[in-house]
Amino acid sequence: MNLILMGPPGAGKGTQAEYIERKYWIPRISTGDMFRTAARFSTELGLQAKELMDNGQLVPDEITIGIVRARLAERDCAKGFLLDGFPRTVTQAKALDGILADWNKELDAVISIEVPTDVLIVRNCGRRTCSQCGANYHVQFNPPLLANECDICGGELQHRSDDREETVIKRLAIYAEQTKPLTDFYAERGLLISINGDQSLSAVFRDIVESLQERTRKEV
Ligand code: ADP
Ligand code: AMP
Repeated sequence: MNLILMGPPGAGKGTQAEYIERKYWIPRISTGDMFRTAARFSTELGLQAKELMDNGQLVPDEITIGIVRARLAERDCAKGFLLDGFPRTVTQAKALDGILADWNKELDAVISIEVPTDVLIVRNCGRRTCSQCGANYHVQFNPPLLANECDICGGELQHRSDDREETVIKRLAIYAEQTKPLTDFYAERGLLISINGDQSLSAVFRDIVESLQERTRKEV
């Protein structure tokens, strides 16, 4: 299955991507994670991306398209993939069309997780991420068993530098302006699945799985 997971910052893409990855055995490709890893290793790309990310801005299309093109060429993507956080602009979406056409691949669905803005602010500001394994928590909605410690690997939990309220507000505005129009782009092709993300983690996942099953039934 070739899938895109869309939605504003804090919609729950990363959280649901972990479940989808495990259920369908397809690799999750998160451009945000790729940039954060590059930043941790202080590569040239990482340092450039970190400055933009900390400011709530997007990394330039040319760079982002390049890393996705290279990642999709890896062998594990032959059986399918789940793009999380890409594409984020019309230019990126058109470039993705070109990459997939080069390999005779097609998208199966674009899942868009919808959540009201006030909820998104609380979700981003309370997000905590494991510094070792990347697992996702929320101080209020999905807390770890021990404060500041990852349930899975015991790693220290971190607050993302772009999850400060003023940066979150900026990221939400950029989403509305540059990324949200992509829902029309994919709806016109009959690929869009809209999911109510303002529900429990398990209810959101249930709705995603049911929508994908319904789509597969229709295609048969
Ligand atoms: P995104 O990848 O879309 O930016 P995340 O998956 O990182 O979003 O989720 C943002 C924050 O909201 C995390 O702290 C996560 O634990 C929490 N969260 C995700 N989904 C839900 C949900 N359905 N209900 C409550 N909190 C959620
Ligand atoms: P995310 O982890 O998806 O919330 O992304 C964190 C940050 O990484 C974004 O605010 C951007 O600065 C950068 N980023 C991630 N994906 C993209 C993309 N597709 N295009 C441009 N910038 C991106």
